[in-house]
Amino acid sequence: APRKLVAGNWKMNGDLAALDQVDEIAKAAQDAGCDVLICPPALLVHAMKARAGDMLLVGGQDCHTKASGAHTGDIAARQLCDVGATHVIVGHSERRADHSETSEDVAAKAAAAHEAGLTAIICLGETEDQRDAGSTLEVIAAQLAASVPSGATAGNTVVAYEPVWAIGTGRVPDTAQIAEVHDKLRQDLCAQLPDGAEVTLLYGGSVKAGNAAEIFAIPNVDGALVGGASLAAADFVPIIRAMT
Ligand code: 13P
Repeated sequence: APRKLVAGNWKMNGDLAALDQVDEIAKAAQDAGCDVLICPPALLVHAMKARAGDMLLVGGQDCHTKASGAHTGDIAARQLCDVGATHVIVGHSERRADHSETSEDVAAKAAAAHEAGLTAIICLGETEDQRDAGSTLEVIAAQLAASVPSGATAGNTVVAYEPVWAIGTGRVPDTAQIAEVHDKLRQDLCAQLPDGAEVTLLYGGSVKAGNAAEIFAIPNVDGALVGGASLAAADFVPIIRAMT
C-alpha cells in the first residue's frame, strides 16, 4: 500500500520564533502511524531540521531545474538536501500562477529533485472555471502526464491534488468529487509507472481538523497537503491524529 503522509506547506509564513511549534508537532508525528512533513520557507529548513531531528521530515517549497549556477535568488534541490530536506514541493498552483510555471517546468524541477535524492511532491489541480466547464478530469490527466518526469517511482514521487478553488477558501470538494479525481490519478499513474499503485496521493485545499478524518477515509487518498492549518500546532496536530 502507498505510504501515508501528512504534509504542511507553510508557504511564505513563519519565522525563527514559529519554530517553537515544532516540538509539539514532532511529538505528535512520533505517535502517528504515518510520515509527517513540514515544508517551511527555505530559510527555515536548516533550523527546523536541527530542532526536529529524526522526529519530523522537512522539505522545501520549490527548487530550480538546474543543479547549480548563475540563477540569482533560486535554490537548487541539492542545497535543500544539504540542509536536511528529504522532500520538495514542485508545481504548486501558486508557483504555476505567480511564476508562470508550466507542467514542463514542473517535470524538470521534479527531475532535478530526483537527481538530488529528494522526493518530489508534484501538485496539480483544476481552476473553478475548469470545474464548471466539466473539464476537471481532462485537466488533471494532462497535468499529470506532463508534470511527472521519466525516472519517477513511488519511492521518489508524491502527487498532490489541490483544486485551485479550494486553496485558502474554506471550500472543499465533496467526497465523491475527491474520490473521482484520485481514482483517475491512480489509474493514470498505474498506466504511466510500473509501481504507480504505490505512489502516495495527497489531497490539499482547506483541510482542517474538522474535515481531515472524512477526507482520509476516501479511497486513494493517502494523506493531505495542508496550508493554513499547518501553521499552528493546535490546528495541525489534530490533523495528524486523524490519520491514525
Ligand atoms: P490551505 O490548506 O490553506 O487551503 O492551502 C492548501 C495548499 O495550498 C497546500 O499546499
